Amino acid sequence: MNWVPAELQTTATKSINVAVIGAGITGLATAHRLASQKLNSDSGLGISITVFEASDRIGGIVRTVKRDGFLVEMGPDSFITNKPGAIDLCREIGFLDHLIPTDESWRRSLVLRNGKPRPVPEGFMLMAPGSPWAILTTPVLSLPGKLRLLAEAFVRAKKSEDDESLASFVRRRFGQEALERLVQPLVGGIYTSDPEKLSLEATLPRFPEMERQHGSVIRATLRQKKHPAGGQNSGSGARYALFLTAREGLSQMMDAVAQACSETGRVTWKLNQKIESLTRVSGQSSDAASSALLTSEGWNVQLQGESAPRHFDAVVITLPTHAAANLLVDKDCQSLCTSLRAIEYASSAIVVSGHRLSDFQHPLDAFGLVIPDLEDRKILAVSFSSRKFPGRAPDGHVLLRTFVGGAMQPELLNHDDDTILRMVSDELKSILGMSGTPVFSSVVRYNNAMPQYHVGHNARVQTIEQQCDALKGLYLAGSAYHGVGIPDSIASGRDAADRILLQFRQPS
Ligand SMILES: Cc1cc2nc3c(=O)[nH]c(=O)nc-3n(C[C@H](O)[C@H](O)[C@H](O)COP(=O)(O)OP(=O)(O)OC[C@H]3O[C@@H](n4cnc5c(N)ncnc54)[C@H](O)[C@@H]3O)c2cc1C
Repeated sequence: MNWVPAELQTTATKSINVAVIGAGITGLATAHRLASQKLNSDSGLGISITVFEASDRIGGIVRTVKRDGFLVEMGPDSFITNKPGAIDLCREIGFLDHLIPTDESWRRSLVLRNGKPRPVPEGFMLMAPGSPWAILTTPVLSLPGKLRLLAEAFVRAKKSEDDESLASFVRRRFGQEALERLVQPLVGGIYTSDPEKLSLEATLPRFPEMERQHGSVIRATLRQKKHPAGGQNSGSGARYALFLTAREGLSQMMDAVAQACSETGRVTWKLNQKIESLTRVSGQSSDAASSALLTSEGWNVQLQGESAPRHFDAVVITLPTHAAANLLVDKDCQSLCTSLRAIEYASSAIVVSGHRLSDFQHPLDAFGLVIPDLEDRKILAVSFSSRKFPGRAPDGHVLLRTFVGGAMQPELLNHDDDTILRMVSDELKSILGMSGTPVFSSVVRYNNAMPQYHVGHNARVQTIEQQCDALKGLYLAGSAYHGVGIPDSIASGRDAADRILLQFRQPS
C-alpha cells in the first residue's frame, strides 16, 4: 500500500536535518514518520533526524514500571481506537499483536452518590444516555433529575454555532443534575478540567453536531442505535470497548516505536540533552576563515551546557506550550509566545497502589469510580487498573490508580507526598471499605502537564498555527492543539512530519 500523499511524491533529492525536541510519544511519532523508509525515498529527501530529550529516558508522560509483581502505568494506561493515530502507528511498526483490549467481565463504571459507589446508567457514554430505561431506574439521579435529562429530546436546538462550555451545553440540554452527577465527573476525569470553561467544540464536537443535525443528542443516539456505523460498544462511562493498551504496558509501545526509528539508521537519540533556546537563522553571513558569503536558513538549537548552538533546517517542538514559549527567544517569535502562553495547563497527581483484594469490602467489580465535585471529596477518580486490563496484578491482588488535583482542586497538590498518600488512603477506606496496608503506594506528580481546552480553544490554535507558519522551519506538535490523548498526540507529530516534507520537497 502506498500511503505517501501524492503531493509528497517526487524524485529530486536534497538533504535536510531536523531537530525533534522531546522524546515523548509525539516526538517519537514525528521521528518515525520522518524516518520512515518509504516516505523518505518517495519524497526524494535525505533526512537526518536528531531527537533531543531532557531526561534519561524516552516516553515522556508514558511510563510503565514493574514492582512487587504488579505492572504499573505511572501515566496514561490505554488509548482510544476510534481515532486512527495510535492504531496506524502500531500497524506500521508491526506492534498490533502486542495490543490487548479491556477485560469485558468488568466493563462498567461507578459514580459516587452521597458517599456510595453506584453504577453509571447502562449505556451512558459521557453525556449520551443509551437507554431511557437505564436512566429511569438509576439510583444516581433523583426523579426530577431523570425526567429533566430525558426531556432533552424535546429541548429546542440552539441556533448559533458559537463555541460553548461543556457545562452550559449540558445544563441547557440535560439539566443541572445530569451535569453535576454524571457529566462533570465522567468528562472531568478525562480532561481534569472545569466544565464551566471546557470548550465543547474542541473536546466533544460530536455532541453539538448531534444537536445541529438531529435537534437533540437523545434523538441522534437513538437513530445511531438503529443504524450503527461500526464501533460497537457496551458498558457505561467512557467508551471502554474502544480502548487498547500494550500487553507489557505502554512503555513497551514507546520502545517499539523507538526501535523502528533506529532501524532506519536516520535517527540519532540525544538523551539527557535539554534544549535551552532556539534562534532563527535567516539570510547571509560571512565566514571569517574564508571570507566567503554564506547563505543559511533554519534554526540554531542551544543545548544546556554547550558553548555553541547546533544548526538545523527544521525544528519540531513537542513540549507543552508554556515550555515551547520559553525556548523561543527571538523578537519575531514574541507574538507566537504570547499565544502559546494563553493555553492554560492543569496539574494532577496519580497515587498508584497495590493491595490484597481481601482488604476491600467493596467487590471492585468495575473499571473504576468517578467522583462528582459536589461530593466534596479529596480525590477525582479511582481506576481499578487490574480489572481493566489483565496481567496488572498478582492473583488475589488489585492495582489502583487514584487521581488527585486537576483544575477543580489544584490546592491539594500543595501537600507533600506523605500527606497525599494519607489523604487518598482515608478516602479509599471511607468509600471502598479499604483496610490493611498496601503492598506499595507512591505519588506520581504531573505539574502543568494537562492542557486545558477552554472555550475559544480552536480559534486560539488557529492563530498559533498562522503565527508559526510565518516562522519558516518551525513546527509545533503535541497534546495542546487538536486533542489531548495519545492518538491525537501521535497524529499531530505525524502531521508536523508531513508538513516538513512538503516544505522541503524539491520539484521533480
Ligand atoms: C496524568 C495523565 C494521564 C493521561 N492518561 C491518558 C490515557 O490514559 N490515554 C491517553 O490517550 N492519553 C492520556 N494522557 C495524555 C497523554 O499522556 C498525552 O497525550 C501524551 O503523553 C503527550 O505526549 P507528548 O510527547 O506530547 O508530551 P510528553 O510526554 O510530555 O513529552 C515531552 C518530552 O519533552 C521532554 N522535554 C521537556 N523539556 C525539554 C527540553 N527543554 N529539551 C528537551 N526535552 C525536553 C520531556 O522530558 C518529555 O519527555 C494523560 C496525560 C496525563 C498528564
